[in-house]
Amino acid sequence: AGTGKFFVGGNWKCNGTKDSISKLVSDLNNAKLEADVDVVVAPPFVYIDQVKGSITDRIEISAQNSWVGKGGAFTGEISVEQLKDLGCKWVILGHSERRHIIGEKDDFIGKKAAYALSEGLGVIACVGELLEEREAGKTFDVCYQQLKAFAGKFMLLTTDLKSIFFQGKPNAVPSWDNIVIAYEPVWAIGTGKVATPQQAQEVHVAVRDWLKNNVSAEVASKIRIIYGGSVNGGNCAELAKQEDIDGFLVGGASLKGPEFATIVNSAT
Ligand code: PEP
Repeated sequence: AGTGKFFVGGNWKCNGTKDSISKLVSDLNNAKLEADVDVVVAPPFVYIDQVKGSITDRIEISAQNSWVGKGGAFTGEISVEQLKDLGCKWVILGHSERRHIIGEKDDFIGKKAAYALSEGLGVIACVGELLEEREAGKTFDVCYQQLKAFAGKFMLLTTDLKSIFFQGKPNAVPSWDNIVIAYEPVWAIGTGKVATPQQAQEVHVAVRDWLKNNVSAEVASKIRIIYGGSVNGGNCAELAKQEDIDGFLVGGASLKGPEFATIVNSAT
């Protein structure tokens, strides 16, 4: 782990029922979580209110997606304003399932992230390559392209407030402090094929270098870069030892309270 505060997010994806989520929340409330870690869970939209009303304040809530601008006539969408109303502090954007199953593109994802940030939500910004891209030696290029889409839209916030979709001033001062980058190789997500600590570390360093060259040395050194892809209670400690792994985004293993707690505590 690096010098930033360790950050562990649990992405529950499209899983759970009122009953199973009540049990998971109770397990998390009873778990011993090290103090010096940011802990966040991302329930499905429909259970956010239930979770917020029953989970310890020690754990913050993230959404798994958000609408690209202010709410209105957008059937089936959930706005950033509504997420804030429910007590969400974060939103996951650019997740590979939304990129590759739903078909979201870089530009749209970048706009969503910038809008969420402009309204004061923290953004867990996901990047990562497909297996064929890794095999073709394109891992860094793919991650750089995805980072560029996020960073380009973030920068619009500070340079061109009246542009395109914002129509006015943002409600929050956009800050890179409210962004966590999740490196999630697509071939590792939900497959049981975790990246080796060296593979993850190598990309985290590349991401930091890109930020140094394209944003600022300060942002590059302070930002948390977390790893996601088949992290579990057995492999988290080795990954957490890497200097540039500042935490985890966890899917499957976040549905089991005690195992998620092991991952939260893996850096200590
Ligand atoms: C994820 O969906 O962000 C993820 C990392 O999933 P899993 O841990 O199940 O691979």
